[in-house]
Amino acid sequence: MAGTKYAYVRTFELPDTLLPGTFMVFRLDGHSFHRFSDMHNFTKPNDARALQLMDHAARDIMEEYPDIVLGFGESDEFSFLLRKSTTLYNRRESKIVSTLTSLFTSSYVFHWPEYFPNNPLKYPPSFDGRIVLYPADNHVRDYFAWRQADTHINNLYNTVFWALVQQGKQTTAEAHATLRGTVSKEKHEILFSRFNINYNQLNEQFKKGSVLVREEIPEPQLGATPAIPAQEDNFISTPETSPTGNKKKKEKRKAKPKTHIVVLHCDIIQDGFWITRPGLLI
Ligand code: ATP
Ligand code: ATP
Ligand code: MG
Ligand code: MG
Ligand code: MG
Ligand code: MG
Repeated sequence: MAGTKYAYVRTFELPDTLLPGTFMVFRLDGHSFHRFSDMHNFTKPNDARALQLMDHAARDIMEEYPDIVLGFGESDEFSFLLRKSTTLYNRRESKIVSTLTSLFTSSYVFHWPEYFPNNPLKYPPSFDGRIVLYPADNHVRDYFAWRQADTHINNLYNTVFWALVQQGKQTTAEAHATLRGTVSKEKHEILFSRFNINYNQLNEQFKKGSVLVREEIPEPQLGATPAIPAQEDNFISTPETSPTGNKKKKEKRKAKPKTHIVVLHCDIIQDGFWITRPGLLI
């Protein structure tokens, strides 16, 4: 259709290529999930099923896009780090944002019944998405530290808030008033002295969020095919015989180690996580 008199409208579409050689962080966030979580009876402050469903959708994204090296999720949001050399969709911003957001959303809906078997969707949920570029390693580190610190701050607040409401029988307005101006130490004290809750013993997923990384599958396991989860990826799939029929040549080629995606609930603010995974910041 390129030759029609209408085709000139195409020239109004402006390029939106993202700067080369910079880290891309793609973040999505549930649209109006305050309402969505109410309408679908999420457990407060943390619905573990909902978090696991988010992790599942994130895993689907990482399986589809090998250039995503790291995912971090909390509440209704997920952030993904793409390697700075990625040429995904020629680095076209709207193509990347819209395709990834759409895949995450459809995966969330697709897998919903596995996590909420007795709780059918009342309406289709949606997510917003954005990409922020970061030129340097320390920006990427600080970005993920910012999100995990946010997880901690929100979780501490929400844990005390819902203890005051559910066990302390305060109204939501009263609970907000009780918490107004309190520092972290005071929140810990309210939890412990009034509700006998030791914050440090709560589920790590709630306190630290979900960290998705690729890990090498240890060699001995490679033979045991059924034990390798379906999410394996990032390997060079070489056909039994190469197109030229040259089997010898194929065997000499060293395949990348097989990896699978794992979900961790670990600290990503301190150096340890990054030092043991130098491949994240290349
Ligand atoms: P926006 O469209 O601006 O993002 P929002 O209502 O989604 O608005 P957020 O700041 O994204 O606001 O907060 C998401 C809200 O969703 C949380 O405050 C919480 O009420 C709810 N929520 C998300 N995930 C969970 C969960 N796993 N368990 C309980 N509640 C959750
Ligand atoms: P891209 O990701 O670049 O959009 P694409 O494979 O989706 O790649 P399009 O140019 O969008 O390419 O074309 C969509 C293709 O999907 C059509 O060429 C056709 O093969 C198929 N298709 C879409 N809708 C229908 C339909 N209703 N019936 C039959 N085929 C369809
Ligand atoms: Mg928001
Ligand atoms: Mg939201
Ligand atoms: Mg949010
Ligand atoms: Mg298409």
